[in-house]
Amino acid sequence: MKDVKWENWAGTEACRPEAVIKVTSVDHVCEIVSDATRRGITVRPVGSGHSFAPLVPTDGIILDLSALSGIESIDTAAGRATVKAGTRISALGEPLWDAGLTLHNQGAIDAQTIAGAISTSTHGSGLGLKMMSGCIVGAEVVTAAGELVKLGSDDPRLAALRASVGTLGVIVSLDLQLEPIFKLKETLAFWSFEEVLERWDELTHSHRHFSFVHGPQYDMSAELPPVPDGTKVPTLVRIYDQVDIDAEDSYEPAHRVNRPYRIYPDEYTPSWEEVEPYVPYERALDAVAATLPVLERFPDEFPLEIRTVAGDDAWLSPSGGVESVSVNTVRTWGNDNGPFFRAIEEALAPFPGRPHWGKQPYLREPDFYREVYPRWDDFIRLRRQMDPSGTFLNGPLRTIFE
Ligand SMILES: Cc1cc2nc3c(=O)[nH]c(=O)nc-3n(C[C@H](O)[C@H](O)[C@H](O)COP(=O)(O)OP(=O)(O)OC[C@H]3O[C@@H](n4cnc5c(N)ncnc54)[C@H](O)[C@@H]3O)c2cc1C
Repeated sequence: MKDVKWENWAGTEACRPEAVIKVTSVDHVCEIVSDATRRGITVRPVGSGHSFAPLVPTDGIILDLSALSGIESIDTAAGRATVKAGTRISALGEPLWDAGLTLHNQGAIDAQTIAGAISTSTHGSGLGLKMMSGCIVGAEVVTAAGELVKLGSDDPRLAALRASVGTLGVIVSLDLQLEPIFKLKETLAFWSFEEVLERWDELTHSHRHFSFVHGPQYDMSAELPPVPDGTKVPTLVRIYDQVDIDAEDSYEPAHRVNRPYRIYPDEYTPSWEEVEPYVPYERALDAVAATLPVLERFPDEFPLEIRTVAGDDAWLSPSGGVESVSVNTVRTWGNDNGPFFRAIEEALAPFPGRPHWGKQPYLREPDFYREVYPRWDDFIRLRRQMDPSGTFLNGPLRTIFE
């Protein structure tokens, strides 16, 4: 028997599945899934493997969708595009721009697949900007029976699919609502922490994107300005403002002007694990205050990162129904980080902190999710309809979604 091994990007999740199958067509997906369901074998779809959570590992089949990649069609008049599920975000920028269109937002990397990013509610920053899944207006999904189902823009199941961590089926294509092209002007600067906190509301409301990184600074591809002399704990502010499409490109470090898909992504080397709960925007500064003592108790080389995101209607979105703030904490991989993550969980419990689906080193107890997601039971009902045999559930997912 072949010795197959799968590992996520960070190396924090690994398994020995029966097979990792690189699918070649939608029919191929249908065939594999229906066969697995008949045999009672688990199937877990994978994108770029950039999630830190135990979402993919299985002793069954891992479905690699990287060959189902590329833009199928663009409707310029409607500002929409249909893309294959395994398309990396990095492959979307250029061709969409050539058609006069762009994604409404992106996160800190562009290595994710579009299906992987929407399945975990991946976000960028910006109080007026929804999770990446907010641009999904249609989808094609292979259910556990191996049937291809089309979800149109008014299909209520779309709001469930937007943060479904691959438990409703295998997404094979997505329809995206896009924005007309625009450019961004970047400002990266070290400010005093006090100023950031005092001006928080003004800054988050007056810029397209305002976020900050407080603590030890890690390497980023965008060159940083120097930390002011005498700063004990630096606070980096990251501002992106929309500028005219005719604005001249600038490559000046920390003050770039360029197309959004060239400004947002950075490059990182795997060496950590992380947790990123979201709290209501209104309570952002209380959540920061609750997190700081935990960071002091468990010192590490990574900072606290705070970003904003608009509320949305996805049933299991951590910013569902309310403007939110993501509280990102990162720890060096290989250390005993369990006590730190539990302490963060406890510190943010009163808000409550709803973890990013792709950024939680362990899944929480089932009652927690039911408490924090008003549509949890609706989601479970739909999941059972689309996958009655639990084909898409691995061990950890089974504990909460069965
Ligand atoms: C360096 C780094 C930076 C990051 N920056 C950000 C950031 O700025 N903002 C943010 O919000 N997140 C960020 N993330 C997290 C990342 O965006 C998410 O974990 C995202 O889900 C990864 O996409 P992926 O393609 O690797 O998906 P995977 O991790 O491979 O899969 C994620 C989930 O999607 C499911 N899935 C994948 N493809 C399909 C499919 N075709 N059909 C159904 N289900 C599918 C999988 O089963 C799994 O449950 C970052 C992660 C890393 C490692």
